[in-house]
Amino acid sequence: ASSPLLGRRVLVTGASSGIGWATARVLASHGAQVALLARRAERLTELAQEIDSAGGHALALPADVTEFGQVQTAVDRATAEFGGVDVLVNSAGIMLPGLIAEADPADWDRMVSVNLMGSMYAARAVLPGMQERGQGHIINVSSNSGRVHQPSFAAYAATKHALGAFTTILRKEVYPSRLRVTLLEPGATESELSQHADQEVLGDLLAGMGDGNGMRLMTTDDVANAILWSLTAPPHVNVGEILYTPVDQR
Ligand code: NDP
Repeated sequence: ASSPLLGRRVLVTGASSGIGWATARVLASHGAQVALLARRAERLTELAQEIDSAGGHALALPADVTEFGQVQTAVDRATAEFGGVDVLVNSAGIMLPGLIAEADPADWDRMVSVNLMGSMYAARAVLPGMQERGQGHIINVSSNSGRVHQPSFAAYAATKHALGAFTTILRKEVYPSRLRVTLLEPGATESELSQHADQEVLGDLLAGMGDGNGMRLMTTDDVANAILWSLTAPPHVNVGEILYTPVDQR
């Protein structure tokens, strides 16, 4: 009952799957109220019911992060239900690897829209309320591709590098109101992320990431626990950046 997250009001994007889903569950189990944002409404309702029946408080907010109006409406609903949003976890993202000369430029557009614009829109929507209340924490889920360069990841890495720049500047802008900002850069994690990728391209990429003996991936709970740790740092501490990868990953 003494959890530092008790009553904290959290909005998680990408909460229908993977890292966002695990993060919402972990934070709720530590007493946070969680608003769940993604497109698949039935998944969100299922998770909200699970959290509510475990004694927590969750709100399903079906929305597409590539539409600013939908993001703003979701934030307004969370604010009305909880009285405010103290924490934003931007986890919505897609990864569609491919060589520059062969990739479908429409895939680039989708990655920029979800990974970069979606995270920027959500930050834009929660920030005025956080600044007004003088407290808040924004966690942007980037990737080790936000630091490392490898073939076939040009567009994905570009979105994550851009998210890194956005996050660093966000931190500078919110410094006067003492809000906290964290950039999390996970490596290979078991989730649905790779299911949307070209499986042939992906197989070659995975083979090149470890030493060839099969890599032990991180679980979504591993990553959720890094988010929990960032959020529960003492209030005078800002966890600025975390690079977080499987031991097996190069
Ligand atoms: P998943 O595919 O399991 O989850 C992605 C989430 O994003 C889903 O909940 C999906 O929900 C949501 N999403 C996708 N498009 C939209 C959209 N237009 N509007 C709203 N929500 C959307 O992947 P992960 O959990 O692995 O990925 C989460 C984040 O972690 C991503 O930013 C990814 O880049 C990053 N990451 C993941 C790594 C990994 O190895 N798994 C490694 C490094 C970083 P829905 O489809 O219902 O909208």
